[in-house]
Amino acid sequence: MKVLSKSKLETALNKLNQSAEVFLPMQKDKESGFYSWKLFNQGQDELMLNALNVYLPPKNVVLPQTERMYSIKQEGQEIKIDKTFEDSSPRVIFGARPCDLKAILCMDDVFLTRGYEDSFYKCRREAITIVANACFQPGPACFCAAMEINPLEPAGADVIICDAGEAYSWEAKTPKGEALTAQITEYLEEKSLSLPAAKPFVQDVKYEGVAEKLKGMFNNHIWERLGESCHNCGICTYVCPSCYCFDIQVKMWGDEGYRFRCWDSCMYEEYSREAGGGNPRGSGIERFRNRFLHKLEFFKERYGTPLCTGCGRCIVACPAGINIVKIIDEIKEAELDA
Ligand code: SF4
Ligand code: SF4
Repeated sequence: MKVLSKSKLETALNKLNQSAEVFLPMQKDKESGFYSWKLFNQGQDELMLNALNVYLPPKNVVLPQTERMYSIKQEGQEIKIDKTFEDSSPRVIFGARPCDLKAILCMDDVFLTRGYEDSFYKCRREAITIVANACFQPGPACFCAAMEINPLEPAGADVIICDAGEAYSWEAKTPKGEALTAQITEYLEEKSLSLPAAKPFVQDVKYEGVAEKLKGMFNNHIWERLGESCHNCGICTYVCPSCYCFDIQVKMWGDEGYRFRCWDSCMYEEYSREAGGGNPRGSGIERFRNRFLHKLEFFKERYGTPLCTGCGRCIVACPAGINIVKIIDEIKEAELDA
């Protein structure tokens, strides 16, 4: 098998960085997430390829938190598009965990299928190569295997690496992955490597049947109880690798300006407020219910897979201690309305 020694990792990253911007998991000051290798500050920042999940997923590489879309000009009563900012710069996400990779595949479903193509997303996505980091030792909040993910051989990766101590195994899975491999071939060795044995999951999650059961639970009394401590702060959607909702805004200076989009959250009251002032999800409980129905039922109905990838970030980050694993358990246990 092909092997990348850890002693050659930084040199290989420098090489890849010559033809693409490479994003990796890093600790930067008090924050952890996927940042550009160009911003890596030797001696201060820490590479986090060994961490299971950094606080922020690589979602921002595929769907930036704020993305300029068009510059526009007002001419009389007309608004004209001056320039479109579709970004096809080559990028590499290096070390995405299988849960974060699956979240990108969910976004591919949303932005590229069912007769609808988001050209901004498409441009970026086509220029991204993903090196997935296989997981052998699930963390205390992880439950990806219960959400239809193979943590050892994740679908959709261009390359799969696996941490075997002093070196990573390196396996190209797609033509994009082969092209990336060719760029660093001088740093790869051909040799055998014994891979670590897979450890069991701490979380015992049984998602089977949940999407089907939820069909009869829209008005169930459990939502009041489960959602009563939710602050509707939106942190869970911010850290979630698969939450993709955005809002489009306009910024004008006189007759010129631009349109941009930025992440939004279904937990916010304004998210579903209509122009006439009505709001189909006016209460916090309705918004809480919507988030879990979308994750566990609606997305599965539409795309055949849940929109939760079992990364566990929302469990760790929620200030109210709301835990999607416990919610799945409660749904399984709940009595259906008569
Ligand atoms: S579930 Fe937790 S993180 Fe999400 S909006 Fe409610 S309080 Fe905030
Ligand atoms: S809902 Fe929570 S556990 Fe599921 S993918 Fe999003 S952040 Fe991860």
